[in-house]
Amino acid sequence: MSDNPTSAEAPMFKRLALIGVGLIGSSISHAARRAGLVGEIVGSSPSSETRKRAEELGLATKMYADPSEAVRGADLVILCAPVGAYAAIAKTIGPHLEQGAIVSDVGSVKSAVVRDIAPHIPEGVHFIAGHPVAGTEQSGPDAGFAELFDGRWCILTPEADADESALAQLRTFWERLGSDVEIMSPDHHDMVLAITSHVPHLIAYNIVNTAAHLERVTDKEVIKFSAGGFRDFTRIAASDPVMWRDVFLNNKEAVLEMLGRFSEDLVTLQRAIRFGDGATLEKLFTDARTIRRGIIQASQDTPQPDFGRRAGAGAKSSAR
Ligand code: NAP
Repeated sequence: MSDNPTSAEAPMFKRLALIGVGLIGSSISHAARRAGLVGEIVGSSPSSETRKRAEELGLATKMYADPSEAVRGADLVILCAPVGAYAAIAKTIGPHLEQGAIVSDVGSVKSAVVRDIAPHIPEGVHFIAGHPVAGTEQSGPDAGFAELFDGRWCILTPEADADESALAQLRTFWERLGSDVEIMSPDHHDMVLAITSHVPHLIAYNIVNTAAHLERVTDKEVIKFSAGGFRDFTRIAASDPVMWRDVFLNNKEAVLEMLGRFSEDLVTLQRAIRFGDGATLEKLFTDARTIRRGIIQASQDTPQPDFGRRAGAGAKSSAR
């Protein structure tokens, strides 16, 4: 593969193995080639359609059904499959990893991933878990794009005895993919992501299903008047079901803790509505609006009204 032939610098890694080439794996391939970071990219995926498509798109020079073949000779291996598959993948590839190689992942939960992968990593191979906090509701090899990680955080959760030089290399790799890198413990990661990502997805899945099961409002009306707010939940609820099943099965405690707090706060809102307590409602809504402004100031979303949708271009602007 000709990975950025104009790049004057030698690639950081001679061979990158991507285990899974869906949205995240394919985006890593695009961004790594954009930055000239790797000599060659190979991949592994269970389905023959995905393997064929990944080769057609040039995401990898060679795709293998067996991940242990993909990791041979690789100095960087990144697991990009749903987290429920990590233990089996790690067990399969463990004996075939190159001495000195770095093994990482992109899973949306971290404690369970470290638990599942670390025992299969041989002496002399460096395992550092990671999570790019970037994504869309799309999936599969066609969904990826080079800009996905630009200006987004990538969280690395190294174990206490992680190799300093391997950690520095992985940090540089993600920075050159476009990300800002933050280091934290797996437990802390799981607590932060439970409230910023996992519970919001659960709420979106739930509200979409609640609307779908309403008897007094027709399906047609739910879709027709969706610009009132509902459609923004449907975007999140369109995310990959297998990936999200695995997130909730593998971040149970933190999600249940945050869900408990969420339920208590919801009861406060419920009471304020029931008792006509406008002051409480206004205060809570004002606090929430401040959070949105903070996200925009931190360049984590567009300041454009209605997320930058153009009125009349496909979707009409929101009626709130
Ligand atoms: P995706 O688009 O659905 O792609 C998943 C890929 O994993 C597919 O190529 C699939 O292959 C492959 N796969 C499934 N089982 C596998 C196995 N046993 N061995 C090897 N490959 C396997 O998913 P994604 O959105 O890229 O998510 C991948 C990972 O990134 C997940 O761990 C997720 O938690 C994490 N993540 C996702 C987002 C997001 O917003 N989507 C953001 C950050 C991190 P086939 O097509 O052949 O089945």
